[in-house]
Amino acid sequence: MTAPAAPTAPRILFGGTFDPVHRAHISCARAVSRALGGAVVDLMPNAVPPHRPQPGASPEQRLDMLALAVAGHASLRVDPRELQRDGPSWTIDTLEALQREEPRRPRILVMGADSFAGFDNWHRWQDYARLCHLVVLPRPGADTPSARVQALFRETGADNLLASAAGNRLMLTAPVLDVSATAVREALARKGSCPAVSDPVLAYIRRHGLYNIGSGIQPGR
Ligand code: ATP
Repeated sequence: MTAPAAPTAPRILFGGTFDPVHRAHISCARAVSRALGGAVVDLMPNAVPPHRPQPGASPEQRLDMLALAVAGHASLRVDPRELQRDGPSWTIDTLEALQREEPRRPRILVMGADSFAGFDNWHRWQDYARLCHLVVLPRPGADTPSARVQALFRETGADNLLASAAGNRLMLTAPVLDVSATAVREALARKGSCPAVSDPVLAYIRRHGLYNIGSGIQPGR
């Protein structure tokens, strides 16, 4: 008799623009890892389609800042795949590619409650439930998702998230952090610094003159 195959560790993807990566992203990713028994979480920066407002930092700079932010966090990694692909970067395409690459490996998509609330605006949103599970992080001010979004994924606890191949949803209740990249960019331009970015990331932003850093500081004040 052969021993049963060991369960495959899930592929956990936390997508976003990360313009720039901030402390809430890192705290949230670590909380997801802890909730799932120390599993590795991949932070995956997305390519912004040409017709949308472009990030303040280039794809390479967003990747560099992510690498600085995850350094020293053993459970966090950066996955550059969506920046390396030609054409629009739809998360659904990434999940389908991963399914082809590793059909037996469960996939978990991580997002903040604000993203979850707008999930039915995502490209092919109804196809996600057959491709991945979801972990949703609390976010101050997030709207309540529509009934159809809530119905797409079955809510479960952390222990049962992987009980089926896909279609389950874990709602985390912590951490609750009132931080956004928009507020970070504004603070950097106005004050030249921001406590919500780590020191290495702040040094990088200064070195590359990103986000109009310090442009709003009044001389002599
Ligand atoms: P912006 O202000 O430019 O929209 P952001 O801070 O929301 O940026 P993104 O890179 O767009 O950062 O976010 C990536 C993912 O991280 C999204 O799923 C978002 O919901 C989540 N996220 C960002 N900040 C928080 C936060 N403070 N709490 C929980 N989730 C967050």
